[in-house]
Amino acid sequence: MGGTFDPIHHGHLVAASEVQSLFDLDEVVFVPTGQPWQKAGKRVTEAEHRYLMTVIATASNPRFTVSRVDIDRPGPTYTLDTLRDLKRQRPDAELFFITGADALAQILSWKGVDQLWDLAKFIGVTRPGHELTDEGLPEDEVELQEVPAMAISSTDCRERVANGEPVWYLVPDGVVQYIGKYNLYRPGAGELQEV
Ligand code: ATP
Ligand code: MG
Repeated sequence: MGGTFDPIHHGHLVAASEVQSLFDLDEVVFVPTGQPWQKAGKRVTEAEHRYLMTVIATASNPRFTVSRVDIDRPGPTYTLDTLRDLKRQRPDAELFFITGADALAQILSWKGVDQLWDLAKFIGVTRPGHELTDEGLPEDEVELQEVPAMAISSTDCRERVANGEPVWYLVPDGVVQYIGKYNLYRPGAGELQEV
């Protein structure tokens, strides 16, 4: 499951857990993006903070792991490279790429879209506020899956912190504490970098 994870929240975790169970996956690998090309010009928190929050949020689940492939690769993150790197590390694995309805709708604009289907099966999951459709996408390569509705976004979490509002129960407790410890998402905190 790729994402900016700025910060990781319970919407990500529920989707991952649900797909793990439904497809009987051995492992769900969370892959925080390096520089997300879709968010060029927007400000994204330092990769190391996003990586560590993802580790904190997933540490207690024996089937969840976090990969550094995207944050250690220089340049913008493309899912094609992500999947190639993961495949290189796990040559015998059958890969599934978990993506929310909003990201699924963008897939046709991704780099090397035709090659993506050979590398992984795509699981598109429901997300409140977005319509889940595989229109235009190859039928055999994409599966749509309903997951428990969590109307949470990282954008909303960041805005809440900036406004001094709570994010308890939207993100894991350890992530609330990490955000506080490093003063992330507060105006003028200086932890953001332009991508
Ligand atoms: P931002 O608001 O910064 O874009 P986000 O909440 O959309 O953050 P991302 O890191 O952009 O989180 O998303 C990573 C992946 O998780 C994407 O495929 C996205 O569609 C999916 N996702 C995010 N939030 C949810 C949710 N609440 N329910 C289901 N899928 C989600
Ligand atoms: Mg998003």
